[in-house]
Amino acid sequence: MAEQRVEAVVIGSGPGGYVAGIRLGQLGVKALVVEKEHPGGVCLNVGCIPSKALIHAAKTFEKMAKASELGIRLAAPPAVDMAAMQAWKGGIVSKLTGGVKQLLKANGAELELGTASIARGAGGYDVTIARTDGTARTVTTKNVIVATGSRPIEIPGFAVDQQRVLDSTGALALAEVPGRLTVIGGGYIGLELGMVYAKLGAKVTVVEALDSILAGIEPDCVQVVARKLRKMGVEVLLGAKAKGWQDKGDRAVVTVETKDGGEATIDADKILVTVGRRPNSAGLGLEALGVRLDAKGYVQVDRQQRTNVPGIYAIGDVAGGMLLAHKASREGEVAAEVIAGHKSAMDVRCIPAVVFTDPEIATCGLTEQAARDAGHAVRVGKFPFAALGRALSVNDTDGFAKVVADADSGEILGVHIVGNGASDLISEGALAIEMGAVLHDVALTVHPHPTLGESIMEAAKAALGEAIHIVNRGS
Ligand code: FAD
Repeated sequence: MAEQRVEAVVIGSGPGGYVAGIRLGQLGVKALVVEKEHPGGVCLNVGCIPSKALIHAAKTFEKMAKASELGIRLAAPPAVDMAAMQAWKGGIVSKLTGGVKQLLKANGAELELGTASIARGAGGYDVTIARTDGTARTVTTKNVIVATGSRPIEIPGFAVDQQRVLDSTGALALAEVPGRLTVIGGGYIGLELGMVYAKLGAKVTVVEALDSILAGIEPDCVQVVARKLRKMGVEVLLGAKAKGWQDKGDRAVVTVETKDGGEATIDADKILVTVGRRPNSAGLGLEALGVRLDAKGYVQVDRQQRTNVPGIYAIGDVAGGMLLAHKASREGEVAAEVIAGHKSAMDVRCIPAVVFTDPEIATCGLTEQAARDAGHAVRVGKFPFAALGRALSVNDTDGFAKVVADADSGEILGVHIVGNGASDLISEGALAIEMGAVLHDVALTVHPHPTLGESIMEAAKAALGEAIHIVNRGS
């Protein structure tokens, strides 16, 4: 029996769900946000934020070890206190998850802990919230936003026990730096975490089934990261499939089928499995409601985030596409606005993506090849960080900015940056694409000196044959 009626229920409080809750509140729609684990979802608790905290700590450690290059002498070599690092990381997570609760409350949205499921009811939908103490309550609503996110995929032979075999959550919580770490999967999560532990002292091996790490990302950007991995002593096995592992007491021995069909073994203290993620769409009652899922279980939505069942919306990872926090948040805003009666749509020309490796890769829009495949005559401009005063003065010159444009109109189709600071620079590229900017718009925008942002202006100028601080191709 439904006890209470609310205007909208949001299931999940990750960057999709909590943003939807806040936006609903702003628009005067009374919303209840239900969360079964921790407010803030994967992103704040076991994803974006804690990983970036550890990446920063590992980078600081690496920089200290190189401080002598800048004329700084340390009294003793720096050392890692993993427990203190984890405590610092935990503090950031608590601050942000606390902020989520406050923001929801301040905007008039209610947050309740429990596992939600949906069924059709007399007044629309009945959402039952099962609490951990065994009690449950049901609320009635006409609008449900499913924002339940995704979870790591497991592979045969590597059951995650968070002791020997870790998923990303386990790898973010290690109490000490493993001596030898085998990472299965050369995507962004595996490489980000692999690099953290390599910098902190682990011997890291990456096993990737495809012929390249970071599949789908502008290949010349990937090459820069591959070079750095080699320099750090990280071994990357491409075209290799992890088959299983054996416990030898003091170590795990991972068996790998190599590219040439042979077999290799790798000794490891920890095995990190990061081979992708799958949607949390089961157990919610979606199938019984007739909500359309794709073959992998992602909820199918239109540009208003509506499913095929009226009143049921889906956003974020569970709705597929790019599994990124900022994509989830934008979709959360759209769903909230549609529920509030606005003519809103997920109408974006690009979603930027960042790989927080060292150096970072940040991309938006089309790769050079994708632009050609789409039928564009392409004009490309590239500017190396090594020619940038700012990059030299912060002692970090790996990388470049690359602008891909349509040769006829000059319209910017893609921006790809590899180099530290790329994560903060890419928003200019996203804005340029979103605004339909042409090369001259970026080239003629005065960029402050000395900054890394000048690389984007110079890349646009290079595409026009007018770069100032490098010799132009053909000149
Ligand atoms: P989630 O954040 O997954 O939140 C879903 C929430 O729903 C969870 O809290 C879950 O407990 C809850 N839930 C599920 N089922 C129910 C139910 N039945 N009832 C109630 N609650 C339920 N993305 C980036 O953009 N940048 C990054 O740098 C980045 N780094 C990452 C690093 C790692 C290690 C990982 C794992 C992910 C990273 N991501 C990053 C991806 C990002 O975390 C996700 O894209 C994002 O969290 C998706 O948001 P969401 O709101 O869709 O779902």
